[in-house]
Amino acid sequence: MNKRDYYEVLGVPKGASEKEIKSAFRKLAKKYHPDVSKEPDAAEKFKEAQEAYAVLSDEQKRKQYDQFGHAAFDQMNGGAGFDFSDFDFSDIFSELFGGSFGGGFSNFGGFGGGRQTTRARRGSDRLMRVDLTFDEAVFGCKKEINIDFYDECDECRGKGGKGEKTCSTCHGSGMVTMQQNTLFGAFATRTTCPDCKGKGKTYESTCSHCRGTGSVRKNKDLEVKIPAGVDTGNRLRLAGKGDSGTNGGENGDLYLEFRVKEHPLFERDGNDIYLELPLTITEAVLGCKKEIPTLYGNVKLTIEPGANTGDKHRLKGKGVEDLHSGSKGNMYVIINVVIPNKIDKKQKKLFEELGSTDLKTAEFKEIENYLKKNK
Ligand SMILES: [Zn+2]
Ligand SMILES: [Zn+2]
Repeated sequence: MNKRDYYEVLGVPKGASEKEIKSAFRKLAKKYHPDVSKEPDAAEKFKEAQEAYAVLSDEQKRKQYDQFGHAAFDQMNGGAGFDFSDFDFSDIFSELFGGSFGGGFSNFGGFGGGRQTTRARRGSDRLMRVDLTFDEAVFGCKKEINIDFYDECDECRGKGGKGEKTCSTCHGSGMVTMQQNTLFGAFATRTTCPDCKGKGKTYESTCSHCRGTGSVRKNKDLEVKIPAGVDTGNRLRLAGKGDSGTNGGENGDLYLEFRVKEHPLFERDGNDIYLELPLTITEAVLGCKKEIPTLYGNVKLTIEPGANTGDKHRLKGKGVEDLHSGSKGNMYVIINVVIPNKIDKKQKKLFEELGSTDLKTAEFKEIENYLKKNK
């Protein structure tokens, strides 16, 4: 199924500011919130908008999306798109639906459906593009990679603040229900507690190092072994090297996506290698022995007399080693007979002499006979 572009979903241009994105989402949320909307496909539309907003409102995720499109999140969630189930929409929903916040709340924690707020949360996956030279991709290599990731804040040890106490708004459950009378009638919305962001706890002071989020951006160098045989578009998964989890949740994964630079001579198609070999007219006509480069050193190739442009010579097993099976592809040498566009006097004389002999093959006779018939 074709997924709609996130910018298109929100109806904003690619370069939209944070403010524009937020305002666009607010409008859509107001229109399609399943509790208020009368539109037939409101739930779908609402979900679509939530997903788009969860990505575009996060600087890192937006960057990934701009670079890779939906593919940035596809592999990480079984192709189902970005998983926004952990995203905190409470700020926006409280602005939208809770004009008189506080009074409209009731504690939702006693209900069986209340979500456990201090549950372990897995860190986000990260996707990074890595440039490789042709040889690095073919033979494998070790690469030093500098990655940006979110890690637990050292100052508050991931808590977001100091002086822990139970949240008085939700009484520790992390969830609240808002009741609101609107033009559409009374409705109730269950949402994450806006005061403790679902943690069930608040702090006497907010951690200034992470501004209460519990995680900070860090940067580290990682030495990665790239296996032989990778190609542009291949991804390598490094388990646990993504963002750190919270509340004891496991770390996300880091995915490396490769982009391989072109080789000056070789062209690669899967595990096969192609080389175009230029021959002079005389080499082509008389045959020759040519030294040619391969991935595994230079070899001598015998060209039989009468070679033609497009002739294909297969060198078995001189291709790229397969990433998984280890078997090698082939190399193909493609002949290109090059006609000189400048010749000297002596050469001209020789060609004229040659031209006076009969060089015509069957193909020439065919067209000559046809011309005669048409007279
Ligand atoms: Zn709370
Ligand atoms: Zn902190």
